[in-house]
Amino acid sequence: MKKTKRLSNGSEMPRLGLGVWRVEEKDATNSVQWAIESGYHLIDTAAVYKNEKGVGEGIRAAGIKREELFVTTKLWNADQGYESAHKAFDESLERLGLDYVDLYLIHWPVEGKFNDSWRAMEEIYESGRAKAIGVSNFHQHHIEELMKTAKIKPMVDQIELHPTLTQVALREYLMQAGIAVEAWSPLGQGKILQNPTLVAIGEKHQKTAAQVIIRWHLQSDIIVIPKSVHEERIKENFDVFDFELSDAEMKQIDGLNINERLGADPDNFD
Ligand code: NAD
Repeated sequence: MKKTKRLSNGSEMPRLGLGVWRVEEKDATNSVQWAIESGYHLIDTAAVYKNEKGVGEGIRAAGIKREELFVTTKLWNADQGYESAHKAFDESLERLGLDYVDLYLIHWPVEGKFNDSWRAMEEIYESGRAKAIGVSNFHQHHIEELMKTAKIKPMVDQIELHPTLTQVALREYLMQAGIAVEAWSPLGQGKILQNPTLVAIGEKHQKTAAQVIIRWHLQSDIIVIPKSVHEERIKENFDVFDFELSDAEMKQIDGLNINERLGADPDNFD
C-alpha cells in the first residue's frame, strides 16, 4: 500500500499520522519525537489543543528534514472570520516555529463565519504558507454552503469516523467530490478496543484490535491519526503495513456501525 494519498492539489499526504488532542505541551514534544523516530511523517494538532509549541519542539528534536514532514493545524472557532483567521494562522505558525504548515483546516463549521474564514485561508494557501487547506466536521450541506463563495475546493474533510460511526453517505459524497476523508477519534477514543469482533480478527493476524482498526481505515482509503502518548503504543499503531484484512473481515468491521458519536454533531456544537 502506498503510504501517502495524493490530494486534489497534488500534495502527497501521509495516510497514517499522530494525533495530539488532550496532550500537554511537554508530552506533545516526546510523543512527536517518538512518532517521527518510529516512521510517522504526519502530525495533527490544532490551536485549541494548546500544544503547538510542544509539537514544534518535538519536530526539531527528531531532526527530520522539514520537507519530509506533513504538519496539520486548525483554525479555532473563536478565531473565525477573515481578519481573525489571518491573525490566528500567523500565531499558529509562530508557536509551531515553522514557516509553513502542510495542511490548515477550519476546525468546526461556525455558521455565518466559515465563508469569510475560507477566503483568508485561500489567501494563505496562495501565499504558500499552507501547502493545502481543508475543513473539519463539515457535513455535505456545510461544504455546499462553502462552495457558494469559495474559489478553491477543500482538499480534506477531517470527520469523526471509527467502526461504530462509519459515515458511509458522507464518505461517498466526499470521495466523489475529490475531497480526502480523514478520520478523527479513529480508535473510538480507545473505547472499542475490547470489541470481540476486532479482537478475534486481530488474533488471526497476530495484531491488536488497535492495529486492526487502523488497517481498516487505511484499506477504506481513509487518512487516520490515532493518538497516544506512550512510546510502545505509538510504535504499535504504526506497525500496520505488513498484513492485510480480507474483504470478509472488512465487511465484518463495516458491520459494527451503530452511528455512535463520541464528539459533538457538527449541526449542534458550542
Ligand atoms: P483515538 O481514537 O485516536 O483514541 C486515542 C486513545 O486510544 C488513547 O488516548 C488511548 O487511550 C487509546 N489508544 C491509542 N492507541 C492504543 C493502543 N495501541 N493500545 C491501546 N489503547 C490505545 O482518539 P482521539 O485522540 O480523540 O483522536 C485522534 C486525533 O484526532 C486527536 O488526537 C486529534 O488530533 C484528532 N481529533 C480531531 C477532532 C476534530 O474536531 N477535528 C476531534 C477529536 C480528535
